[in-house]
Amino acid sequence: MRVTDKFREGSTLFSFEILPPQKGKNIDHIYQAIDTLLEFDPAYINVTYHREEYIYKKREKGYLEKVAVRKRPGTVGICAAIKYKYNIEAVPHLICGGFSKDETENALIDLSFLGIRNVLALRGDPIKTETHFVPSEGGNASALELVQQIRNLGRGLYMDEDVKDADPLDFCVGVAGYPEKHFESPNLALDIHFLKQKIDAGADYIVTQLFYDNAKFFDFVAKCREAGISVPIIPGIKPLSLLSHIKFMPKFFHVDLPEALTIELIKCRTDKDVAALGTEWAVTQCKELIKSGVPSIHFYTMGKGQQTADIAKAVY
Ligand code: FAD
Repeated sequence: MRVTDKFREGSTLFSFEILPPQKGKNIDHIYQAIDTLLEFDPAYINVTYHREEYIYKKREKGYLEKVAVRKRPGTVGICAAIKYKYNIEAVPHLICGGFSKDETENALIDLSFLGIRNVLALRGDPIKTETHFVPSEGGNASALELVQQIRNLGRGLYMDEDVKDADPLDFCVGVAGYPEKHFESPNLALDIHFLKQKIDAGADYIVTQLFYDNAKFFDFVAKCREAGISVPIIPGIKPLSLLSHIKFMPKFFHVDLPEALTIELIKCRTDKDVAALGTEWAVTQCKELIKSGVPSIHFYTMGKGQQTADIAKAVY
């Protein structure tokens, strides 16, 4: 089922994102996180994609060898496992970085054979050794190009022009939006201008970057509507849970923490204090978002299923 068909059900849905386990850990870690959240009837579960990173390994005689390592493989396999174990729609994240268009096409064919009909189309971040995003040879350079490739497959247009009378591959496509703008964008208006290009190319809905100030989300939605974007916009919520988040969230996700939140945050002495505050703040955010009629709230669980469950219990 397409995720957007679920949005039409009326009340605010519950959905969440999980990360594949670190290489060496089995899928039971994922099942445990999902089991904690089953009682809230998740409408769909997103699974992130992690491209390779380059590290230097010490070899004989002190030589350093540059090696590509993927620490969290398994996105497609986990999606299939979720779909068939729990009968819940799984949404794999697809990124441009690290893939040629041919490889992307093959991944989409695999997904369609597995019965997966939803994807979140993303560009991906630059890898640590790059100052800016560099597409792979023959790969998509932006989420817009990825959306265009997926929509071409929906019309039966494959990369290999010798493929004739092809069956179309139909996916429901989500894309990312940034209430506080994407970190590379000079301003929010231009970011929304490029977001609209993704929608005009055929994306079906938007999931936002996490945020802690609902006013910024409501303003973003209003500006998207003014710009002519009419698709559903799903807020992303990630509760604070660690003392380090006061610096990590602005640095890593390029979001502000509201003053009222930081006043309380600096009083916290332990991670447990932060998690209690983070839960309370997220509950308040979610209640207001539900009141405003958002189609779904998307939780970034980051392996912390219990905290998401505590929030869901208070708001659903
Ligand atoms: P794009 O939509 O391509 O935009 C990237 C930047 O380019 C923006 O600043 C945009 O304004 C600008 N831009 C677009 N078109 C043009 C143009 N024509 N000219 C100039 N500028 C332009 N990353 C992962 O690696 N794996 C994941 O699983 C993952 N999941 C995510 C889930 C969500 C909900 C979100 C919000 C992000 C996720 N990310 C993930 C991070 C994402 O890959 C990064 O934020 C990335 O830097 C941008 O991806 P995008 O799809 O928004 O890119």
